[in-house]
Amino acid sequence: MAKTDSNLSFILNKPHDVTFEERPKPKIESPHDVLIAINYTGICGSDVHYWEAGRIGSFILKDPMVLGHESAGTIVEVGSAVKSVKVGDRIALEPGTPCRRCTPCLAGHYNLCPDMRFAASPPIDGTLAGYYTSAEDFCYKLPDHVSLQEGALIEPLAVAVHITKQAEIKPGQGVVVMGAGPVGLLCCAVAKAFGATTVVSVDIQPSRLEFAASYAATHTFTPERVPAEENAARLLKEVGLEGGADAVIDASGAEPSIQTSIYVVRRGGVYVQGGMGKPDITFPIMELCMKEVTAKGSFRYGSGDYKLAVELVAAGKVDVKKLISETVRFEEAEQAFKDVKAGKGIKMLIAGPNEK
Ligand SMILES: [Zn+2]
Ligand SMILES: [Zn+2]
Repeated sequence: MAKTDSNLSFILNKPHDVTFEERPKPKIESPHDVLIAINYTGICGSDVHYWEAGRIGSFILKDPMVLGHESAGTIVEVGSAVKSVKVGDRIALEPGTPCRRCTPCLAGHYNLCPDMRFAASPPIDGTLAGYYTSAEDFCYKLPDHVSLQEGALIEPLAVAVHITKQAEIKPGQGVVVMGAGPVGLLCCAVAKAFGATTVVSVDIQPSRLEFAASYAATHTFTPERVPAEENAARLLKEVGLEGGADAVIDASGAEPSIQTSIYVVRRGGVYVQGGMGKPDITFPIMELCMKEVTAKGSFRYGSGDYKLAVELVAAGKVDVKKLISETVRFEEAEQAFKDVKAGKGIKMLIAGPNEK
C-alpha cells in the first residue's frame, strides 16, 4: 500500500460536474476510530443518480461532495481504544454512522436512525478518496482468502441480506425477485443460501436474465406489456408455483413489477419493497388485503447484516466475484460512472487511489 499523505478525492460539484481534488487527510477524532486507506470502491446506482440529478428524495446536493460508499480498504492507523482491528487489517467498510442513542438505534435498527451520517448522502462525504475514518465496529475484517475486490461487494450484498431477511424465507420455499440488477441478483443468491429451492429472477433485459440463470436463479421470467395479473398468472404457471410464491422481493422499483408482485405472492405470503423508483404508484391494495399479504419496506442494512454478508462470501455460499465486470483506475472514475449509466456490465469497481 502506498504510504502517502495524498488524499485525492473524487468530488461531485453539481450534476455531471466532477473533479479530482486533494483534500486534507482525515484525522482520527475518537479513540474508537480507525483510519482506512481506500483500495477498491464499487459504483452504486445511487452514486450514479446523484451524479446525474444531484438528489435522491429529500437528500439534495448543495455543496461539493465526495462520491462513493461501497468500499474496502486497509487499516493504516487506529485510535487509542481500538481493540477489534489492527494496522494492516484488510476490511470491508460499513459506510454509515448512526447516533447510537436514539430509539431505533437502541432497538437494534440503526439503519432507521434519523441522525444517520451515511457516506455520499448529502452533505456527508463519500469514500472515493485516499483515506476515510470510521468507528472500529463498522469495519469488518476480511478472511485471508477473501480479496479486497470482493470486500467492496459486501455493501450491496449487505443490502440484499437485509431485504432477504425481511422476506422471512424458510427452507424449501419459492421466491420471486423482481429486477436482475446487482441487488436483485444478490437477493437471488442470498435466498438460495437461506434455503429457497425455487428462485425466480424477473427482468425485461434478456442479457440480465441470462446472467441470472448462470448465477443463482433456478428460473427466469420475462414480463410482457399486458396487465399485471396476466404476467403473474403466466409466471406462476411457467415456474410451477401454482398457488403463489412464498415471498416476493421487488429489487426494481418499477411500477409494473410491484403490481405483478402482489398478484404473484401467495395467500399469507410476504412482499418486500427493496427497490427505489417512483415515489408514488398505483398499487393493487385490495389483492394485498384479501390475501392477507405481509408487506414490508427494506432500507440499507442493520445489526448483523454486514457480518453475515462477509460470512456468506467467506463460506462460498454467495459468489460476489462473478458480479465484477471491470476494475478501472481511480483516474478513470468519471468514465466509469458514464459506463454504469449506459448499463455496461453488472458491477464496476474503481481501484485506489491507494494501491494494494
Ligand atoms: Zn450501494
Ligand atoms: Zn440513532
